[in-house]
Amino acid sequence: MGEPARFPVVHLEGSNDESCHRRYQRVRPAGRRSWGAVLLTAGAKNRFDSRVEAATGGPLISERISVIQVNIGLTCNLSCVHCHVASSPRRKEQMSWETMEHILRVAREIDAGLIDITGGAPEMNPHFRRFVAAARASDIDVLVRTNLTILLEPGYEDMAEFMAGHGVKLVASLPCYTKDNVDGQRGEGVFSGSVEAIRMLNGLGYGRDAGLALDLVYNPTGASLPPAQEQLEADYRARLGDQFGIVFDKLITITNMPIGRFIGELKKKGNARSYRELLERSFNPDTVAPLMCRHQIDVDWNGTIYDCDFNLALKMSVNHGMPSNIADFDPALHKRLIVTGDHCFGCTAGRGSSCGGALV
Ligand code: SF4
Ligand code: SF4
Repeated sequence: MGEPARFPVVHLEGSNDESCHRRYQRVRPAGRRSWGAVLLTAGAKNRFDSRVEAATGGPLISERISVIQVNIGLTCNLSCVHCHVASSPRRKEQMSWETMEHILRVAREIDAGLIDITGGAPEMNPHFRRFVAAARASDIDVLVRTNLTILLEPGYEDMAEFMAGHGVKLVASLPCYTKDNVDGQRGEGVFSGSVEAIRMLNGLGYGRDAGLALDLVYNPTGASLPPAQEQLEADYRARLGDQFGIVFDKLITITNMPIGRFIGELKKKGNARSYRELLERSFNPDTVAPLMCRHQIDVDWNGTIYDCDFNLALKMSVNHGMPSNIADFDPALHKRLIVTGDHCFGCTAGRGSSCGGALV
């Protein structure tokens, strides 16, 4: 495993009380000559922090931000049982164009390589097309996380063509290659709708042409870790190719986080505790260095900045002693102490998990 980045942490006068884990980070914002110190966090160290420190010798600190993940709204045409942001057709929260403009400005300023757009069903935000077009016009790569079925809904029939025309990469949810598992997790008819949407995307070049990447996402239906990504990818390719003639680029496996609707479902079945124990027991120190929160920030529909989409779902915004809205973005966020909780064991269990799949 690579050595995790250490960033100098200094204790200021009168604040060297290790028992409360009050930490200050030594920072030098871009364009300024002098070093300063900002309060990073205060409070008791949680179990995840303790495991990270024992494994790496230091706290979890981010690297340069290369990806801005943006949750542009919580409205969704589906209401999946594993949804960690509790999206549904009833949710009305949507990002404004003004907030999108701030994101585009920051992406250009920090030379972010990718804007990763999620939701809800991000296609349902009224400014979605304008946002995508503006990012691509600035030569920023755009990835959209689609649930596929939205591409078949009335009013969205030309959406796939729009995205292909702008060279948008797609990551599409398809939690299994069987109808029963997909419909059980996402709703009746979702599997056949997803297959139809992938056929349409393949027809536009997705999954076939360079520049039109189509990755599929698997997540377990129950309280278990995902199987090995490579083997499952081969199974998906064979089953979906043989039965439906559809193709894709990569399969991404994602561990279900013990939060939101998913943990609510486990509680009802009485296995929430054992799932949390499984995640903690499966802690793999090799997954710490590539954790996605070390290389990206997340912005929610109202502009608040988080370390990742899961912290966003839990409303745990970045805690670096500076404003946490994208309108006031500070370059010191590149190197920040990441806000963690016991849910973080979902990212470090087994081969690790991120929005880009397994980590090791
Ligand atoms: S998991 Fe995705 S498709 Fe399902 S309700 Fe949540 S945002 Fe919508
Ligand atoms: S949940 Fe978020 S903050 Fe915690 S380890 Fe995973 S990516 Fe990092």
